[in-house]
Amino acid sequence: MRWSRYYIPTLKEAPADAEVVSHRLLVRAGMIRRLTAGIYAYLPMGLRALSKVEAVVREEMNRAGAAELLLPAVQPADLWKESGRWTQYGRELLRFKDRHESDCCLGPTHEEVITGLLRGELRSYRQLPLILYQIQTKFRDEIRPRFGLMRGREFIMKDAYSFDKDDAGASASYAAMFDAYTRIFRRLGLRFRAVEADSGAIGGNFSHEFMIPAGTGEDVIAACASCDYAANNERAETARPPHREEREPPPMRETATPGVKTVADLAEFLHIPPSGIVKTLVLEADGKPVAVLVRGDHEVNEIKVKKLLGADVVRQASPEQVEAWCGAPAGFVGPVGLDAPVLADHALWEREGWVCGARAQDRHLVDVSLARDAGIRDFADLRAAGPGAACPRCGGRLEFIRGIEAGHVFKLGLKYSKAMNAVFLDKNGREQHLVMGCYGIGVSRVVAACIEQNHDARGICFPPPMAPFAVHLVLLDRQSREAAAQAEKIYAELCAGGYEVLFDDRNERAGVKLNDADLIGLPAQIIVGAKSLGRGAVEAKDRRNDRREDLSLAGFAEEFGIFWESVRKGWGLTGSAV
Ligand code: ATP
Ligand code: MG
Repeated sequence: MRWSRYYIPTLKEAPADAEVVSHRLLVRAGMIRRLTAGIYAYLPMGLRALSKVEAVVREEMNRAGAAELLLPAVQPADLWKESGRWTQYGRELLRFKDRHESDCCLGPTHEEVITGLLRGELRSYRQLPLILYQIQTKFRDEIRPRFGLMRGREFIMKDAYSFDKDDAGASASYAAMFDAYTRIFRRLGLRFRAVEADSGAIGGNFSHEFMIPAGTGEDVIAACASCDYAANNERAETARPPHREEREPPPMRETATPGVKTVADLAEFLHIPPSGIVKTLVLEADGKPVAVLVRGDHEVNEIKVKKLLGADVVRQASPEQVEAWCGAPAGFVGPVGLDAPVLADHALWEREGWVCGARAQDRHLVDVSLARDAGIRDFADLRAAGPGAACPRCGGRLEFIRGIEAGHVFKLGLKYSKAMNAVFLDKNGREQHLVMGCYGIGVSRVVAACIEQNHDARGICFPPPMAPFAVHLVLLDRQSREAAAQAEKIYAELCAGGYEVLFDDRNERAGVKLNDADLIGLPAQIIVGAKSLGRGAVEAKDRRNDRREDLSLAGFAEEFGIFWESVRKGWGLTGSAV
C-alpha cells in the first residue's frame, strides 16, 4: 500500500480527553477518530489492526469446532422480558421504540437472541453439542465511556454460545473455548493471564477472565506468588482465619464518641487499631435491608454478598434508608439489637471483644462479643482481598496487579434455557433444557490493550500478528532518482515475497516520515536513503528494540527474510504463524 494513496491522518498532539496511552496513540497514529462519547470510527490502519485480531479469533474458533453466524444488532424487548433482563439490565441497555411503539434495544450481548433462535430449531440430542459465534458491533450505554477503544459504548465483540445436552458436555465445551482463548491471546503476541472470575449463582470454577496485565487496567488481579491461583480481585477468595481465640470479653458497655464518624476517627479517639473495630455496612439487596459486618481495616465485597444471598441487585443503602432500617445515622450503626438480617465476614470469627456502633448518635459499644451480644454464629467470606492477604489455595502471599479484561468465558448452565424454555429431546425422548455457556472477546479492546502493553516514548510497537502491515518502507530522498527507483524495486520485491508493506512514498521531509514510522509502529522498517545506497545497502530497523542492520541491495530478498525472522523471534514468535 502506498501512503500517498492511503488515509493515515497522523497528528502531533493527542486529544485533550485522552487519558491513557493507547487512546493517545490510536488517535495520533491516525487509526481512530471519535464521533461522540465512546463511539469511534476505525480509519483504514485501525481497521487493519482490528481485522488481524478478527482473523486469529476466527481461525481459532473454527479450529475449536465453532460455527460463525451473524445476529441482528436491534433486538425486540419481548425476548428480554422472557429472560427477565429487560428490568434487570441497568441503563447500559439502550432501549428505544420503533414506529409501531414496540420496545426494542441495541444488543449489548446476545444470549436472548441466540436462545430464542435455537429453541424452535434444535430438537434432538443428536444436534448437540453446538457452538455458534459471531463478530459483531455491540452497544452498551456505559456510564463512563473512556480510554478510547478500551471502554467504548459501541465496540466490537466476538461472542460465542455453546449448547450441550448435559453438564459434562457443557464442561467440555467450556474447556474447548478456554483452550481456544489461550491460543488466541498467545498467537496475538500478548502477555496475558487467565484468572478465576465470578461464576454467579452457578458456583464452581466455571468463569474465567483473560486479563492483559497493564498499569492502566481497570481491574485488579490477585495472583499468588507461590502457586498458580489468580482471580479477579472483585471475586478473589479470602482465607478463613486458622484459629479462634476462645476468650470471653468483659460485659459490653456503651461509650460516648462525639462527632466521630469514620473508622479512622474512631480508632484515633479510642487509641485502638482499626482492626479492633467492626464496621457495619447497610446494603439494599433486591429492595430489602441487609447489614454486613467486616473488620475496620477491611472492605465489603458487594459481589460476594450478592452471591451469598442469591440476589439480583445489591447496592449501598441511602442515608435515609439506613436511618429508617437501623434507627441510627450512618457511622453509628451496629449489629447489637439490629432488626435486619446481619452477615459477618469470617475474619471476625477469629476473636471477640470488638468496638462497634451503638445505633445512637455519638455512641459506640466496647467489648462486644458478636456471639453473646448480637447472636452471630455464622461467618462467610464477604470482604475484598487486599494487601497482606493470604492465598486461599496454598497460604502464599497474594500480589495485586492491574489488568485489562480482554476475554471472558462463562458457564451459564440452564439460566436462559429455563427462563426461555429452550429444550431438546434426549435419547429417551424426554424433554431436557439445553445446557449453555457464553464466551466473549473484546476485539476492539484487544487492540487498545495491545498498545498499552507495547509502546515506547515514540509510539506504538505492534507485535507482528496484530500489526496493520509487517513492513514500513520509508523513502527518504524522493528527489534522488536512484533512491526512488530502489525503493520501488524493494516495494515490488517485498510484495512479491508475500509481505504486507506500507510504502511511505510521500513528498515529506525525512524527519516527518521517520517520526510517523515510529509513531505507527509497524514491526520492521526499511529505510531507503542516499547515504546507505552509497554503501550499496538499505537500512533495516526493528521497531521494538531499535536494532539496525544494513541489508545489501544485491541480496535484499534473502537478507530481509532473515531479518524478518529475527524480528519475529524477538517477539517470541517462531515457526509458522499458526
Ligand atoms: P467490563 O467488566 O470491562 O465492563 P464486562 O465484564 O461487562 O466488561 P463482558 O460482558 O464479559 O464484559 O463482555 C465480553 C468482553 O467484551 C469483555 O471481556 C471485554 O473485553 C469486552 N467489553 C465489554 N465492555 C466493553 C466496552 N465497554 N468497550 C470495549 N470492550 C468491552
Ligand atoms: Mg466480563
